[in-house]
Amino acid sequence: MDTKENWLKRFSNIIESLTKKDFALLPKSKDLEKTFLQLLKEAPPEIPTDLQTQLRLLSQSLDALSMDEKKLRLLKIKDLLLQKNFNEPLKLDGPEDIPSLETYRKNRKILSQGIETLKGIGPKLAQKLAKRDLHTIEDLLFFLPRTYEDRRKITPIGNLVEGVKAVVFGEILKSGINYYSRRKTYEILITDGTGFLTLKWFHFQDKVMRGLFPVGKKIYAIGEVNRFLRNLEMSHPETISEEDTEKIAAELGHIVPIYPTLERIPEKTLRKILQRVVKEYVEYVDNLIPTKFLQRVKLLPLKKALIALHLPQNSEKIEILLDGNNLYHRSLSFEEFFFLELGLALKKSKIALEKGIAFNVESRLAKDFLEKLPFELTSAQKKVIEEIKRDMARDIPMNRLIQGDVGCGKTVVAFVAGLIAIENGYQVALMAPTEILAEQHYRSFRSYAQLMGVESALLTGGLAPSRKREICNGLATGFYKFVIGTHALFQEGVEFKRLGLVIIDEQHRFGVLQRASLREKAKGLNPDTLVMTATPIPRTLALTVYGDLDVSIIDEMPKGRKPVITKLFLEYNRRLAYEEVRKELQKGHQAYVILPLIEESEALDLKAVLTHGKELQEDIFPEFKVGILHGKMSSQEKDMVMQAFKRREIDVLVSTTVVEVGVDVPNATVIVIEHAERFGLSQLHQLRGRVGRSDKQSYCFLIAYKISFQSEAYKRLQVLCKTNDGFKIAEADMHLRGPGDIFGTQQSGFIEFKRADPVRDIDLLLLAKEAAFELIKEDPTLERYPALREELFRRWEERLKLSEIA
Ligand code: ADP
Ligand code: MG
Repeated sequence: MDTKENWLKRFSNIIESLTKKDFALLPKSKDLEKTFLQLLKEAPPEIPTDLQTQLRLLSQSLDALSMDEKKLRLLKIKDLLLQKNFNEPLKLDGPEDIPSLETYRKNRKILSQGIETLKGIGPKLAQKLAKRDLHTIEDLLFFLPRTYEDRRKITPIGNLVEGVKAVVFGEILKSGINYYSRRKTYEILITDGTGFLTLKWFHFQDKVMRGLFPVGKKIYAIGEVNRFLRNLEMSHPETISEEDTEKIAAELGHIVPIYPTLERIPEKTLRKILQRVVKEYVEYVDNLIPTKFLQRVKLLPLKKALIALHLPQNSEKIEILLDGNNLYHRSLSFEEFFFLELGLALKKSKIALEKGIAFNVESRLAKDFLEKLPFELTSAQKKVIEEIKRDMARDIPMNRLIQGDVGCGKTVVAFVAGLIAIENGYQVALMAPTEILAEQHYRSFRSYAQLMGVESALLTGGLAPSRKREICNGLATGFYKFVIGTHALFQEGVEFKRLGLVIIDEQHRFGVLQRASLREKAKGLNPDTLVMTATPIPRTLALTVYGDLDVSIIDEMPKGRKPVITKLFLEYNRRLAYEEVRKELQKGHQAYVILPLIEESEALDLKAVLTHGKELQEDIFPEFKVGILHGKMSSQEKDMVMQAFKRREIDVLVSTTVVEVGVDVPNATVIVIEHAERFGLSQLHQLRGRVGRSDKQSYCFLIAYKISFQSEAYKRLQVLCKTNDGFKIAEADMHLRGPGDIFGTQQSGFIEFKRADPVRDIDLLLLAKEAAFELIKEDPTLERYPALREELFRRWEERLKLSEIA
């Protein structure tokens, strides 16, 4: 067998002899197809199969073609053979190719230029693109093709098969209108000597068509081949005239990327712009990830991936491009994950370098507290307390996440940690996402920790200024040991004497920035941090996206809990749901009725709550007491209602989603969610978590109004009816909505990926995590990678800004 070089040379020589002197030898040559196919049979294995395939296709029925077609084919073959690099694996940039800080900065400046500065993009177009979040050159570079069309080869008409999109070339034999019984079509018949093909238009202007397609002219047609009676045809094909060399060069002979259509910008216009922008600017995209990591995971630097996606090579396998998660996409995802994980790794290593407080964890207070609890801790709670103690005893700051489904009992665990810190002479701050929740934590702490002598305070935005001053004073002097509050806790004026532990409930409401800013209140001390979340994130993912936190999981419900029975009702039988509620109320239990928030208007919200409350009180439950809770109430009013509900002075509490997180009234055994179709899955799960908090059987009734059985919303509600498992629900949610929404700014204030999908690409996420943590271990301050460092901060800064909005 030939070597690769020899074989290429043999093939090239033949082509060379055929093409030289303006194809002088071509008319006399015979059996080209046979010769080429024979050569291909002898091809050594180093010749890539896709190249072989292309060459084979170009050789097939070659002899039967017209002279022009033959010439075109030979030129194509020549081109293919000349592509020298086809068999070399894409070379990775060496370490020396990682840009210097100066180059990186210069390139950033170029890439962050607004697109209106580009040739060919006027203000109108720029405006349209801006609507789709395409503002800078960089944005355009990352705007990727939706699919690809293989226009590398021209198919002889005789070889066409039905159902395939193909490019053909032929001479027009007939051209004119055809009348059918009901409609007329413009039809032309073309041939290339191997067969005949009809091109058909249903919408046309006679005159224009006649001008475009005179008999005798040669054209290219691109379209899907279909069968009409016994003949093959193309409807509304794209056509290119033989003379239009510019268009031929742009549209034929290669793989054409097809971009998503935006704002009615014609696909071709967008493609033209993007292709130009990519060609001109992709060189400024720097690879900042050290090469060894890319090599290890066998992925490509950004630039190469972008080139491969936007400017596909003729040697590319079309199946690869058509795979929406191919090597190139994965390379882009990896890059994105890498920067996330690098940030987390850096934070974690920084914290590990800090000197924290080494608490004595043998605490009398904590022991007393546990003895007084009216229940025994679950073994999961005990395990997590041990993990926390281990962290608290070390002189490195604790940074731990307690994850557990709603109702698993995270709060008592946090209280135990708090008491340990207090016994060591430190203060503790617990931050909750809503006033109601802060209030509730405060009260439950006071009731559990009665008579233990721990001075505690509640600090929320709704307090009278004088009371607020008092509390601040008490914190600054160290009188208050335990403060519970909302984000009012990190406002100015709040100072601690000796803050030793920060506890954050329901972290997804806050985001990293606030976490950091509360810690800063500790002035010089490095307090321990404990974060509690019920956002049920699949395990691997949690470990990965909260990479700077250690994770403890409470995966057990307190004994005696019965799964909540969930049922879906439709509008016409919503009364039935309320009849079931009545049964619970008659047993002396209580109920929540939840209405969706109408985001556009608080006034409308209020009205909805008030009207619904009235209906419930007057028409449905005249014999019970209905209470109302809504966003327009002051915090005192809200608290009064909540307390009345807790004391069972209210039987049915009608509310917007303010009770979503954390609220704990074990005697409430039923929750009705009106317009359930408007809520997200996780939110519904959170809401349902308000019941099932005792050993009594609890119920969740979902009432859906406008819903189709095919809709996503219906699927969501079905998932909820089937399972109580927060993790399963989270997974279903991610599959239904995609992770973007789950980690989107709204919910988490934390993770938002532009391209990557942490569920689909969990393997890449883990690899990125490994690589990032390794790099930080080697070079904890990224001193050797200044450009990487700068880019890291740039991206994290954007993220944090996003989290502030949430
Ligand atoms: P979450 O994890 O949703 O924040 P909470 O801490 O609010 O859950 O606890 C839910 C309810 O369960 C509370 O009423 C709490 O007192 C109670 N609880 C917590 N731990 C246990 C336990 N081990 N056994 C019985 N009840 C418990
Ligand atoms: Mg809670």
